[in-house]
Formats: sequence, C-alpha cells, structure tokens
Amino acid sequence: MLDIAPYLVTPGTEANLAARDTRSTEGFDGGKLEGKEALKPLNSTLAELQTRLWAESKQKLLIILQAMDTGGKDGTIRSVFEGVNPQGVRVWGFGAPNEWELAHDYLWRIHQRTPENGGIAIFNRSHYEDVLIVRVKGLVSEQRWRQRFDHIVEFERLLADEGTTVVKLFLHISKKEQKERLEARLREPDKRWKFNVADLEDRKLWEDFSVAYEEAISRTSSEHAPWYVVPADRKWYRDLAVASILIKALEKMNPTYPPEPDLEGVVVE
Ligand code: AMP
Ligand code: MG
Repeated sequence: MLDIAPYLVTPGTEANLAARDTRSTEGFDGGKLEGKEALKPLNSTLAELQTRLWAESKQKLLIILQAMDTGGKDGTIRSVFEGVNPQGVRVWGFGAPNEWELAHDYLWRIHQRTPENGGIAIFNRSHYEDVLIVRVKGLVSEQRWRQRFDHIVEFERLLADEGTTVVKLFLHISKKEQKERLEARLREPDKRWKFNVADLEDRKLWEDFSVAYEEAISRTSSEHAPWYVVPADRKWYRDLAVASILIKALEKMNPTYPPEPDLEGVVVE
C-alpha cells in the first residue's frame, strides 16, 4: 500500500497540477518489476473487499476516472480490477452525448448509472466532461458551464448522503508522455485501433484542457467526494496508487457480511 496523502486534493485548496510530478514513484522502493509484483496482493485485497460490499448490500462505491487522452483510464480499470468478481462491478463510458441525452440536463444520463447497494460503478469519463471538453470547445456559454461546479458539488453530496462513497481520480500524465503514447499507437499494429485523429486536435488544446482540469478539480474536491491526482506517466506506479486509494476507501466503508442465519438443526437430505 502506498501512502496516498500526497495525492489528495485537500478541499478548498488548489489542485496545482503543474507542480505535481507525473513521473513520481514516491514511497515505493523499486521499479516496474517490483511494482507489478506489489500490485498482486492489492488486487486480492480489493477482491475481498468487493465480496464483502456485495454480500452486505447496504453501501455503494462510485469511482470517477478522468484523464487527458491516452491517460490510461482503460488500462487502469483492467489492471486494478484484475481478479475482482465482475458481478457487482459495472463500467460505464461516457462519450459525446446523443440527441436524446442532449435533450435533458447534463446530469440526467449520469445519475441513471450510479451504483446500486452492494455495487461498484466505474465511470470512464463522467459529468466532468461537461466542465472540461464542453468548456474548451465552447459547447455552452461560460455562464452555463461555470454554474455547473456548484451543481456537481451538490449532486455528489446527494449521492454521498444517500449511501454512495464517491472517489474521483485524475490520471495525471505529461504532454511529453502523451506524445510517446500517441506515437506508440501509430507505430504498433495492436495499438493502432486506439488511434483517433481527433486526439491530435485535442492535443493542440493541451493548455486549455490543463486550465479546465485545474479549475474543475480545485472547485469540486470536497470532503464527501474528494479528488486524487495520481502520477500516471509510469503505468505500474499509477496502478499501485489507484489500488491503494480504492482499498483505503473500501476499508473506510468497512462492509461486513450479513449476520448468519440460524442454521441449527438444518440438514441437507
Ligand atoms: P473515448 O473516451 O475515447 O471513447 O472518447 C469519448 C469522447 O467523448 C471524448 O473526446 C470526450 O471528450 C467526449 N465527451 C464525453 N462527454 C462529453 C460531453 N458531455 N460533451 C461532449 N463531449 C463529450
Ligand atoms: Mg478525444
């Protein structure tokens, strides 16, 4: 387990993304091989906690994943949840809204996919896109996206008040690392399917996205739904940090198996 304190964005403070080292391996003595080895027991711990959450069926966990393109959202889900029973975990990706979704408020499609008792929901992108890409591309007026910070804080408070633990993770990569990952997608045949020319357009807007992320994270990290900024240039370290954050959150929830029924005298014929 890593010490996750450095990655918490303390509510009311600035995220200060530019000052955070995306290549950090703070608190871990070793490299990639050791890191991958160290993830295995964390996978098992997560699996055990998820089983208890599911059995208890009284609380729920929402994990929100945000990152720049190539930031590693998919890879994180794959490696951190390895060995976790897929029953009880749902992954939802949020792309550009369709016409029917656009005909509603921006939280409408999000709220429908929040987890049920006993469940874990992972959002691969989320309502944060509505203050990120929507802001950067000018899809709604500034007045409209700006008031969303308050909606979001209150929406997440509603979820928390009603029994959902909300954990928000920003996978923080450098612009240089993104270049390398995009080039790898071009170069390696088994990665080419992931290459999206539109990502090159978004890359040109890196600074704008950085400003948008900085403000969104600073304005919406709260006691009831904190943001963690995870150093993500090194995938193995990113996985360790994310697993540690999720284990901490689940340990705090402390799900317990329901009381055993009285089976005195019960016989299987
Ligand atoms: P991907 O995650 O690669 O499938 O890409 C999904 C795309 O949908 C990204 O470019 C997102 O920025 C975009 N997207 C997600 N949510 C919204 C939204 N609310 N409004 C506009 N674009 C969005
Ligand atoms: Mg994109």
